[in-house]
Amino acid sequence: MTTRTVLFGKLFWPAQLVGGLAAGVLDIPLISKAGWTAPVIAVSLLAAAIIVSGTWLLARLYARRVARLRAFAEGLLSGRLSQVPLRESGDDLGTLAGCLNRLSSRLRDLSSGLTAEAERSEAILAGMSEAVVAVDQRLFVVFRNEAFARLVGANAALPVAMPVQELAPDREFVEMLRAAVISRQSSQQRLRLPGPLGGRTFDVHAAPLTVAGRRGAVAVLHDITELERLERVRRDFVANVSHELRTPLTAIGGYAETLLEGALEDRENNRRFVEIIKAHAIRLNSIASDLLTLAELDADQPAPGPEPVSVRAAIEAALRTVEAEAALRGVELCPAILEEAVVLGNKTRLEQALVNLLDNAIKFNRPGGQARIESGPADGGQVRIAVADTGIGIPPAHLPRIFERFYRVDKARSRDVGGTGLGLSIVKHVVERMNGTVTAQSEPGKGSTFTIVLPAAP
Ligand code: ADP
Repeated sequence: MTTRTVLFGKLFWPAQLVGGLAAGVLDIPLISKAGWTAPVIAVSLLAAAIIVSGTWLLARLYARRVARLRAFAEGLLSGRLSQVPLRESGDDLGTLAGCLNRLSSRLRDLSSGLTAEAERSEAILAGMSEAVVAVDQRLFVVFRNEAFARLVGANAALPVAMPVQELAPDREFVEMLRAAVISRQSSQQRLRLPGPLGGRTFDVHAAPLTVAGRRGAVAVLHDITELERLERVRRDFVANVSHELRTPLTAIGGYAETLLEGALEDRENNRRFVEIIKAHAIRLNSIASDLLTLAELDADQPAPGPEPVSVRAAIEAALRTVEAEAALRGVELCPAILEEAVVLGNKTRLEQALVNLLDNAIKFNRPGGQARIESGPADGGQVRIAVADTGIGIPPAHLPRIFERFYRVDKARSRDVGGTGLGLSIVKHVVERMNGTVTAQSEPGKGSTFTIVLPAAP
């Protein structure tokens, strides 16, 4: 027996034992034909057992790591983006774990970017004054902003996926959306939509929309009711101005022609014709200067620094301006109670407003009538200026409209007395720019009172 054999025998006695036992159990000879001994077989079996159990352990370990990777990946799929990162080791699974960790952080970045973007878009759409509504292929609402909800009078949250025609039952509007979904073409129309606000006019833009491969359409509704009203006011104003200018221009042209065609030699009438021309030229001048004043007031330029204006001084100046006219028409300017008060505004403009009111009190009066102006304190530390007359008065039906441009109760009478129909609208404008109010009371046949209330200067 060699030393190696002894050493082998000592070191592997458990194997010999296992080999012996195995040989007994398996009924194999201790020395096989091939010359293998029981210990060799035992070693082989032990080694095999170690390999098998090692492999099993490794496989289990591997399976656990794969399961962890799978759970992590599934977590990502179901939106759990803030999972604890996987442990990264140097083998293939470790590399995969690293990839999944990076994917997770990238998805997190993307998701927070998308959330921020969605919040931004939502805030923009919510803050828009235009109403926005998006529909799907069946014309069911998939999105609408606050303005659209207000437009359709929804005071609670709108149910999801509601047919748009139930919210905005207007055939043309629904057709615009349908056309955008089907023909994929944008369109624009001015529509008057029924609504809780009593029917308003909208500039509607409808456009096709594709979200995640699904077809739909979006409509943006811009409320142009006020714009339309202003357009109408502007059109009426231009028509009124043209009409107002035409009368004096026609008269001037007509009389000038008559004079040229021989009336110049007509000693009885030529002077009268020239005076008529002069009167109409004065009228044109009044219209032009009133229009200019209104245009300046409309321009909304900041008044050249509101200055403290003495109400008493403004009233006295206005009285001086209309004195001659009052005398001419036989109207008495009554002594008035003038309280000392100061308001903030433009002195010239306030004087002009008071002249306009006094002028009307004289023009729409009768010989022997009275025009009176007074000032005094009003509620809340304000200043009140009242212009009253004993004139023809204004019928109640006309009272609400007399501050409109070119509005006159009796056009012919107004023209006869040199009115332009713009005096009261200038008064209203001037007073409102001084943060005050002007109102009118009148009794036909008895007289009228115009009251201005202005905040007193601090
Ligand atoms: P006008 O240049 O015609 O005076 P205003 O704008 O000053 O234009 O007044 C509008 C209309 O209001 C007048 O045409 C007149 O019919 C009526 N009005 C204004 N003030 C008086 C008043 N004191 N008494 C009676 N009617 C008045």
